[in-house]
Amino acid sequence: RIGTAALAVQVVGSNWPKPHYTLLVTGLCRFQILQLLKEKPYPVAEVEQLDRLEQFTNQHKSEEELGELSEQFYKYAVQLVEMLDMSVPAVAKLRRLLDNLPREALPDILTSIIRTSNQEKLQVLDAVRLEERFKMTIPLLVRQIEGLKLLQKTRKPKQDDDKRVVAIRPNRRINHIPSTTEDDDEEEDHDDVVMLEKKIRTSSMSEQALKVCLKEIKRLKKMPQSMPEYALTRNYLELMVELPWNKSTKDRLEIRAARILLDNDHYAMEKLKKRVLEYLAVRQLKNNLKGPILCFVGPPGVGKTSVGRSIAKTLGREFHRIALGGVCDQSDIRGHRRTYVGSMPGRIINGLKTVGVNNPVFLLDEVDKLGKSLQGDPAAALLEVLDPEQNHSFTDHYLNVAFDLSQVLFIATANTTATIPPALLDRMEIIQVPGYTQEEKIEIAHRHLIPKQLEQHGLTPQQIQIPQVTTLDIITRYTREAGVRSLDRKLGAICRAVAVKVAEGQHKETKPDRAEVGEGEDCKEHVTEDAKPESISDTADLALPPEMPILIDFHALKDILGPPMYEMEVSERLSQPGVAIGLAWTPLGGEIMFVEASRMDGEGQLTLTGQLGDVMKESAHLAISWLRSNAKRYQLTNASGSFDLLDNTDIHLHFPAGAVTKDGPSAGVTIVTCLASLFSGRLVCSDVAMTGEITLRGLVLPVGGIKDKVLAAHRAGLKRVIIPRRNEKDLEEIAVNVRQDLTFVMASCLDEVLNAAFDGGFAVKPRVERLNSKL
Ligand code: ADP
Repeated sequence: RIGTAALAVQVVGSNWPKPHYTLLVTGLCRFQILQLLKEKPYPVAEVEQLDRLEQFTNQHKSEEELGELSEQFYKYAVQLVEMLDMSVPAVAKLRRLLDNLPREALPDILTSIIRTSNQEKLQVLDAVRLEERFKMTIPLLVRQIEGLKLLQKTRKPKQDDDKRVVAIRPNRRINHIPSTTEDDDEEEDHDDVVMLEKKIRTSSMSEQALKVCLKEIKRLKKMPQSMPEYALTRNYLELMVELPWNKSTKDRLEIRAARILLDNDHYAMEKLKKRVLEYLAVRQLKNNLKGPILCFVGPPGVGKTSVGRSIAKTLGREFHRIALGGVCDQSDIRGHRRTYVGSMPGRIINGLKTVGVNNPVFLLDEVDKLGKSLQGDPAAALLEVLDPEQNHSFTDHYLNVAFDLSQVLFIATANTTATIPPALLDRMEIIQVPGYTQEEKIEIAHRHLIPKQLEQHGLTPQQIQIPQVTTLDIITRYTREAGVRSLDRKLGAICRAVAVKVAEGQHKETKPDRAEVGEGEDCKEHVTEDAKPESISDTADLALPPEMPILIDFHALKDILGPPMYEMEVSERLSQPGVAIGLAWTPLGGEIMFVEASRMDGEGQLTLTGQLGDVMKESAHLAISWLRSNAKRYQLTNASGSFDLLDNTDIHLHFPAGAVTKDGPSAGVTIVTCLASLFSGRLVCSDVAMTGEITLRGLVLPVGGIKDKVLAAHRAGLKRVIIPRRNEKDLEEIAVNVRQDLTFVMASCLDEVLNAAFDGGFAVKPRVERLNSKL
């Protein structure tokens, strides 16, 4: 029958959807009910006040009496409050209250704060005597403290622990609790930070960077280690220390040695090597070169990357390759800002960290395959990196201070210039690296690829012999590429197969030996029995151990690589009218292309298939228009004998392979030839390939990629190539032996093209035409 008198301070709530009120009251004192006066509508009683009666007079006495108890209580209360997060204003206020309030008020206040059941809280309220209240609350406090401790222990290992730990640390220092292993860890960390600071001060970073680092380390020292930012800042500082601000290798450049090294590493590619030597020579004469960035453009596998590596070797510099294919986020180049969790520097800074010097050779591989996305344009970020006027103060977002890139030698590679953004292209000097001829490939294979593959497979030239005819077979029948990459792979496959044979041979040689070492006849028999279940070929081999060196001839080639993938089917394909061979340029090198045409009854429609671009479609229209306007001159008729070629006739033109998109004007002459063959019913020569753009007047205009196209024709075994007359100068680039194998026809108008494409010429019938016109 004890209650608490209180003053209602605030009533909050509403009647809707159902009555719900919160009452804020201030407790005044405890009372005891003497007599209940009435119960309805609300209880009214006569009460007697029980506490807070003579607090001023009694205070000293009670404190003396309860001194020990209240002191104990106070200590627990302080301990509990300090375990909480002091940075929360309410907690700080509570801490102050503990000191300012009279001790006897504390049990009531703390009971209301700590986590207890309502039952326990009521018990404390019911307890009238102060001593009793202290005694009752202390166990509650202790329980809460233990609970908190347990909680902190389980949370501690987590990096991102909450801030409660912050409050514990100063506490421990005050109380001088003996240090545990955890403390040792912290001490260690502290030492690390001191070491880091030392490293920063002794490193040779720029003034600006030093300033930033010192500021960061100051922050780091104050930061609790469990904060996520701690690790972030530390990683940042460690990177800053590791970066080669002032560390460089000494260039040892001697042009003569460089020439020898380049020649030794790479066969052919004279133009490229010449330009690279020029570049290096200028570098030797003038130390600080703000020259253009070299960009090697060519099909895959022609040695662009490996020339880059050789340049680094000749200069005695570190080499680092940055693959840019598919990169579509500018932070890949320039890094993420440090505000992100998981942010990191861009590839340039990362590369510098990896090589550990500030003057490496960076090979920016596949710059033509940079993407673009919502995360910004990486090509634009590269502009700053590659501009010699700007790159002495390249700012990575992660570092946020400038780093001098002017000592880095950048080399770029690409398959085509078409997809390189113009601004980027403008900063680079393009060096075309065309594909190889068959002869060059044979030389490369025998000088570089085969020795390399032998070494990789642990074989010696005494064990395997690959004659040049075999290499030529691999090149023509098993690969069709401008570079030498798949040739390299095929040679690898051959080496693997031979390695098996060689290993087997060794095994068989050693096996009887081992049997002899074993005890007598039984063992020997056992071995021969074991050998029996092996395949027939193996037993045959046993009888005839492979002779060293193993010669790779065409049969061996067929065994290892399977049936040939490419056959020379040129002559077969041209056994009917309406087919002509064109030459196309692709980023993978030149290719020959069979253009096919057919006609059928219809309404004069032209169907084009083979994934053509707009320019190519226009070429097809041009070709048809020119033929229609010249039909009488050439006596070309459609199926019904009319000179209007599209009269009641549909034409279908197809460009294989259908899955590859094609575009460009250079197929013009091929389409004209193909259609001329279709309408005249004559066969185009099987060994002729052609390229050239056409106009409505019948002129043949120059096109690009002549060298690659001619090499493709040569690879395919063709004999004659028709090219625009204005492309004659491009032939100089082509190796003499290729030129000797081929006959070139320079054409400046379509008459010349048709005359060269058909056996016996494609005669113009001027007289007939004139007669006709008179009629
Ligand atoms: P890319 O970068 O042009 O795609 P790589 O540089 O990776 O091609 O070359 C592929 C392989 O071909 C390398 O092993 C390289 O050594 C070899 N290679 C290419 N061209 C030559 C050459 N002219 N002389 C020697 N090896 C070459």
